[in-house]
Amino acid sequence: MPTVFQRIIDREIPADIVYEDDDCLAFRDISPQAPTHVLLIPKRPIASIDALSDEDAALAGRLFLVIRDLARQLGVAEAGYRVVVNTGSNGGQTVEHLHFHLLAGRPMTWPPG
Ligand code: 5GP
Repeated sequence: MPTVFQRIIDREIPADIVYEDDDCLAFRDISPQAPTHVLLIPKRPIASIDALSDEDAALAGRLFLVIRDLARQLGVAEAGYRVVVNTGSNGGQTVEHLHFHLLAGRPMTWPPG
């Protein structure tokens, strides 16, 4: 059963896509928790951080650089932002396809819930 993110990659369901390249896709979260809330995913269906292999080092690094560029492109880099990768049950992960939340546009609090 493909995840909802796989279905977005396959264009089976629509999404507000803000960035795409050969390796990854970024789109706005359907339930935004901040004025800017974008999800960045690898196109390869890696379930979570825990499912990354050592061979994924270049991809993992690339995702961080895309986050950096997205934040600049979306105009939130200067004010700051938060990047979240919920992982597993206690981490609050609900979609089993690795994704970075890019949250911005308001001050964030700590600790997280
Ligand atoms: P998680 O809870 O796994 O860290 O994050 C999953 C995120 O996916 C949630 O923030 C949720 O709002 C978002 N999401 C779930 N289904 C869809 C969808 O169909 N489209 C979009 N754009 N986001 C979704």
